[in-house]
Amino acid sequence: MEQTIHRKSATAESSSRQKNGSFFPPAHEHAGFFGKAPPAVIQRTVHSGEDHAGNYQFDDAACTLNYSQDWYYQFPSSMNASQQTAYMTAAENQVETVWSRKHKLRTSSGCPCSASGVDVNVNLNNHNEPRRDRHGFDVNVEQSSTTGFTNQPTRTITLADTHDVPVNMGAQTQQRIAHEFGHTLGITDEYVGWAALGFGHSDRTSIMHSGDDVRPRHYQHFADLISNELEGCIYRPEGFSSRALANPVTQLGITPAITLSEDPEFVIDLRLSRRIGSSDILGLVTPRAGFEMMLNTGSGNLMFGPTLDFSLNRLAHPLYVDIGTGLLYDPEDPRRPESLNIPLSATVGVRWSGFSAGVNYTGLIDVLGNSPYTHLLGVNLQFDLDR
Ligand SMILES: [Zn+2]
Repeated sequence: MEQTIHRKSATAESSSRQKNGSFFPPAHEHAGFFGKAPPAVIQRTVHSGEDHAGNYQFDDAACTLNYSQDWYYQFPSSMNASQQTAYMTAAENQVETVWSRKHKLRTSSGCPCSASGVDVNVNLNNHNEPRRDRHGFDVNVEQSSTTGFTNQPTRTITLADTHDVPVNMGAQTQQRIAHEFGHTLGITDEYVGWAALGFGHSDRTSIMHSGDDVRPRHYQHFADLISNELEGCIYRPEGFSSRALANPVTQLGITPAITLSEDPEFVIDLRLSRRIGSSDILGLVTPRAGFEMMLNTGSGNLMFGPTLDFSLNRLAHPLYVDIGTGLLYDPEDPRRPESLNIPLSATVGVRWSGFSAGVNYTGLIDVLGNSPYTHLLGVNLQFDLDR
């Protein structure tokens, strides 16, 4: 969603002049060196939208990304009204102080805020009432539980009634509510075994491990929100150069595969896909639309058509799962009738910076009944084209 605020520069500047007590207009209001007239209108754009968990406003003149979530609390009967209020205040403090303004988001020249970078402000809105299908999270505070748990697809957080104070983790403490907030952004735990394949596995003071430190990699989701809003501009957290955690807009996939038949044939599958929209389904699954071409290198047969993919990127970084389908047309040739195939494919792989590799299975069903059901097994390589 985009909302443009057109301001008459005269009005805006004259009011700020009065405030500053200076008669002289700011330098940028003067005609340029070569007599170019100043623009009559300053265009400032606030890009706003929602992700699975909250909502955001990116102001490309102020260079701030304001990210907010609404939390709807359910307290145990053991907590009285003032304890509930104190708990919510503590939760807000944890989330906002741990997550706000920790790193800048940077972009290349020509894109908004390339000089200053973008500041991220995180804002938590507390509601001591049931959510009733409103956008946000259910927060169930329990008397007995000791560990926090976030269920991102259902937008539910379970907290202990002691989590308003930092949890003792041995050598250090952790603000557990701020840790759970990280999960609402789709960031996974760094202390688990498979995290050794990704980032932060030995970073004990990290907020997604056992400490309180928000690292540049944890800002990737905020960078993606702006990158998805501004076509052609890629934002990255300052201090994190890998693209492995980014959710790419455009990808090129190449899958060399063989048919699982008595007489195996070698097939090359090319697929160009683009993410649809800027929000992930359930906060986990990125829908992608594209175009696919499948070439049988033995016979020279070519089939092609549109595709629809669902990328599950955020379940266990850096592992990913892609599920895809489409409609591939194979034109008639002198030896064979035409066929119209529905591919069903699944890929499991690992993402690195700007590319990923995995194992792919594809089954092809000919809806015209002119060719047999075909199984393909291949190695899938995907390249991010946009970052
Ligand atoms: Zn966790």
